[in-house]
Amino acid sequence: MTIREIFYRACVRLRDAGIETPVLDAGVLLAAVLHTDRAGLIIAGERTVSEEAQGAYTRALERRLGGECVAYIVGRKEFWGLDFTVTPDVLVPRPDTETLVEAALSHRATHRISGANGEILDLCTGSGSVAIALKHERPTSRVAASDISPAALAVARQNALRLLGDAEAIHLIESDLFNKIDGQFDLITANPPYVPSALIASLAPEVRGEPLLALDGGNDGLDLIRRIVSGAKPHLKPGGVLLMEADSGEMDAITRLLLAEGYEQPRLYYDAAGKARVIGTWQANE
Ligand code: GLN
Repeated sequence: MTIREIFYRACVRLRDAGIETPVLDAGVLLAAVLHTDRAGLIIAGERTVSEEAQGAYTRALERRLGGECVAYIVGRKEFWGLDFTVTPDVLVPRPDTETLVEAALSHRATHRISGANGEILDLCTGSGSVAIALKHERPTSRVAASDISPAALAVARQNALRLLGDAEAIHLIESDLFNKIDGQFDLITANPPYVPSALIASLAPEVRGEPLLALDGGNDGLDLIRRIVSGAKPHLKPGGVLLMEADSGEMDAITRLLLAEGYEQPRLYYDAAGKARVIGTWQANE
């Protein structure tokens, strides 16, 4: 069979099984099996696919049909234009989370992390996506990243090595939020788990295959966010910026938490779908 034929059959198979993005998924999986990209598939459309590659593609499709997400099957996910390694030990980086990187590179946060002495901490780093994107954009700043999961930190380390050319480019710290964190930062970012526990069961099967630790935010989704809000102050330099990803429905409650702790009136940042996705504030008395 040719690439075009095998691809077409896979699209139909995924579509008939109710997969939401059959063409995209069939293409990404086939490109990974054939070590090319989706444009490469089109260019080589009439080429014959070896038996071995056909077998590998069938196995990949079966995993997809079994509810696994494409990123875990191919072991990669693009975020901020960088190609991250992902495993089931980490949340798959979402396009929405690019809002967190954008917010960190904007206005008040910018000048703090642009100089040679900018210091950044990324909590709940997972694959390291936010920390690595920021280090990529601001190579002179010092970036620390923490996670409670040693398995996630191992993935973040691989990503730092592959994408920044140095496994030590990010200072990785195994820590339950601020427990093992010393020092003060110009910017603290976090994409903590924020899904209310009761909603976890209703998430798409792809999402339920991701680490619960990275998703489950407790009863109201705010368990970790509450701890970040109450723990961040001693770790922010005067004027230091705190940016957190959360669900748009949680922003009012988080605003109240931040104001009660004496932070400045928070600002919201919107994702591509127009939903409030990141909330940011700063430590007063700059
Ligand atoms: N945005 C993710 C989802 O809804 C949640 C990520 C998180 O809890 N940090 O699947």
